[in-house]
Amino acid sequence: MQKILDILRESYPQAGTRLKYQNPFQLLIAVVLSAQSTDEQVNQVTRELFGKYSTPQQMAAVPLEELEELIKGVGLYRNKARHIKELSGLLVQKYGGAVPREFNELIKLPGVGRKSANVIMAVAFGLPGLGVDTHVHRVSNRLGLVDTKQPHKTEAALKALIPRKRWIEAHHLLISHGRAVCKARAPQCASCPLEAICPKNIDR
Ligand code: SF4
Repeated sequence: MQKILDILRESYPQAGTRLKYQNPFQLLIAVVLSAQSTDEQVNQVTRELFGKYSTPQQMAAVPLEELEELIKGVGLYRNKARHIKELSGLLVQKYGGAVPREFNELIKLPGVGRKSANVIMAVAFGLPGLGVDTHVHRVSNRLGLVDTKQPHKTEAALKALIPRKRWIEAHHLLISHGRAVCKARAPQCASCPLEAICPKNIDR
């Protein structure tokens, strides 16, 4: 596994989140918005959104219809608007307006699942987290690192396999590789840096 991460590190030296944010609260909102949407779509929406409302107090007070209008450039925007309003209110009421750093608290927030909680811990606070999105799940299975059908099982298996200090890095590298080369429909095995060691190489 370490070798795979080392090879991917060479290929994606800049791997990291592409979401734009200035503090943990903004990252939390961006992560909630990112479900079934691209980071570019999210960044477009948050540029205007954070320009107007950038604290939990402000976000909790925005009328729902206005919030929907501001974020309608991303998918599922009605649900997301509701979640953002509710979670902002919860942050104010329960956490003094701060984003909690604990996994078990983060997943209690509306619109925040295991993947998002891991990402927020890792990216906002530098705490060990290994979020499994569709790319991490697919690439890990193709590489034979895990043999799982569900993302939460992939998360558990990867966390058992990868040293804690490399969890954050592994998350970013597997996403970068899934986006650039090991794509869902047409993996580019011929140009993959892992082609010699991957059991799912379709060109062998
Ligand atoms: S060899 Fe193909 S299937 Fe394996 S990691 Fe590379 S792109 Fe993905």
